[in-house]
Amino acid sequence: AFDFSGKTVVVTGAASGIGAAQATAFTAAGARVIGVDLQPMTGLAVTIQADVSQPATAETIARDYAPDIVCNTAGILDSYQDVAATDLATWQHILNVDLTSQFLMIKALLPGMLKRGHGIFINMSSIAGLVGGGGGVAYTAAKHAVIGLTKQLDLDYAARGIRANALAPGAINTPMNAADFASDGKMAAWVAEETPAKRWAKPEEVARVSLFLASDAADYIHGTVIPIDGGWLEK
Ligand code: NAD
Repeated sequence: AFDFSGKTVVVTGAASGIGAAQATAFTAAGARVIGVDLQPMTGLAVTIQADVSQPATAETIARDYAPDIVCNTAGILDSYQDVAATDLATWQHILNVDLTSQFLMIKALLPGMLKRGHGIFINMSSIAGLVGGGGGVAYTAAKHAVIGLTKQLDLDYAARGIRANALAPGAINTPMNAADFASDGKMAAWVAEETPAKRWAKPEEVARVSLFLASDAADYIHGTVIPIDGGWLEK
């Protein structure tokens, strides 16, 4: 088991799904977890109920805390809209929440991390960050851009103690995908059938990879993206 005692970990999106599982797992591994979400959170050392797409949220964290590890997990799914169906306001909203929020958190926390000489970022992408079809055009664009943000961040700061990687989950059973399980559940069954592993994963399965990535065991893993997708991308 990994030991994060003495470490401070920021987890955005900590009220639900993957972020909640990450926050719980880091807490169980001894870390002081700062949860950030629009929704209320329980069971964490510090909770900040705020919008991660607003610069003030990250700036407040940078002022009050000295995080060692950041999981940029908060995100929203669009409605699988193509370009014709996506208006500018929707595009900008999805990009703000799924991409710019990560830029803002990184930008605010990086100076302190550089001063202290270490910092780890785990940025949430998706299989939609590597191929089309995992969301609509805005979500797919944002999740691809998260990988670019992660690579350039690591490239620019790896020599100064920063380590950044992205995660690319496939079908994870969280409230984000509730619609797939609604009514007859046909969509959820189709997704499982199309996944080589023939099942959805639990958010805890993403959380445990996050702990590995944040640990010294992953010390030399830099600027890459790790799929957790039951084989979806192998097809
Ligand atoms: P979820 O809906 O269960 O949780 C997302 C959390 O983010 C919610 O608690 C929500 O309140 C919070 N959030 C949304 N906008 C916010 C904002 N502006 N400020 C602060 N908090 C905000 O979803 P999830 O499935 O756990 O997804 C977490 C991340 O994983 C997302 O980035 C998502 O795109 C990504 N992801 C999910 C899946 C999946 O299958 N569930 C697959 C790939 C990637």
